[in-house]
Amino acid sequence: MDCIFDYKLSDMQEYFVSIGEKKYKAKQIYEWLYKKRVYNFSDMSNISRALQEKLESTFDTSMLKLRKRQTSKLTNKYLFELSDGNLIEAVLMRHDYGLSVCVSSQVGCNMGCTFCESGRLKKVRDLKSGEIVRQILMIENDVNMRISSVVVMGIGEPFDNYANIMDFIRIINDPSGIAIGARHITVSTSGIVPRIYDYANEAIQTNLALSLHAPNNVLRNKIMRVNKAYPLDDVLKALKYYIEKTNRRVTIEYLLLDGVNDTIDCAKELAHLIKGLNAYVNLIPYNETSHIEYKKSKNEIVMQFYDTLKKLGINVTVRREFGGSIDAACGQLRASEVEK
Ligand code: SAH
Ligand code: SF4
Repeated sequence: MDCIFDYKLSDMQEYFVSIGEKKYKAKQIYEWLYKKRVYNFSDMSNISRALQEKLESTFDTSMLKLRKRQTSKLTNKYLFELSDGNLIEAVLMRHDYGLSVCVSSQVGCNMGCTFCESGRLKKVRDLKSGEIVRQILMIENDVNMRISSVVVMGIGEPFDNYANIMDFIRIINDPSGIAIGARHITVSTSGIVPRIYDYANEAIQTNLALSLHAPNNVLRNKIMRVNKAYPLDDVLKALKYYIEKTNRRVTIEYLLLDGVNDTIDCAKELAHLIKGLNAYVNLIPYNETSHIEYKKSKNEIVMQFYDTLKKLGINVTVRREFGGSIDAACGQLRASEVEK
């Protein structure tokens, strides 16, 4: 059976036409699933009994299984089980402006960044679009509130699962469905260059974040293996193309690792590297894990890095720390569960 949450509205319209039904039925089903949150076809009162039965035998509407939930004031962290038993995680964050959710895009990750817990456990498989959509549904249904923004920054490299990520985006962006505005959706990549070009060419106004984490190839090669395949020059060229093409500002994520990439020289080199680019830098305090040796940079060092960038005319913010105490960094909850 097909998972119904893998279907974009256009896929569903095509399906109804293919079985000799009216196209508008697709919109009705979308509204039941995503607006009214009704997942039993037999409860969909504007659908004939015959069609309900047909849909029941064609589509799977089951949700993810909630394996674990950890809550704190600012965050809820969820561990979900997929139908094949694999585990993924998602995080809900409470901001002044509303709720945001960070979703996973793969089971594990093959990029092998040395500081990252998700990459420590190799990729098992890509997530289907419906498995990403259901992370949002599960969380909205759990807190009984609507989410205002989505970041694809959980476990996995979204641009290593490009087609499913774009389907996911189109499904949650659809006005007949969850209807999250494109400008409130951000995809974060470690820098898979060909997909940055593809993303720039998509006709949708979503955002891009790039995990840079180092201002030169020598250092970046050491902590992010992906840099060997797609070195800095190529990544920056792709970013420029993206900015020109979309007219959008990109986010440069820069994780601060104690004694590794947090010196004043690194800050200067970073400022020089991205000078003139329509971008802002988000400094990320490292979330320490028990398996990986890196330490987070001291507060004074973070402020010094911040000031250096500011003085050199770079737009910069320091990310508020979410849920360090509840394993909220990338992949930690899953890793601790898988290794039990
Ligand atoms: N694979 C994509 C998206 C998922 S990782 C990417 O790398 O961009 C999302 C972000 O979390 C990345 O910027 C990553 O570098 C960062 N990250 C990984 N481990 C972290 C940790 N322990 N503490 C803080 N941020 C971390
Ligand atoms: Fe994968 Fe992103 Fe972690 Fe690197 S930081 S290993 S790309 S999830």
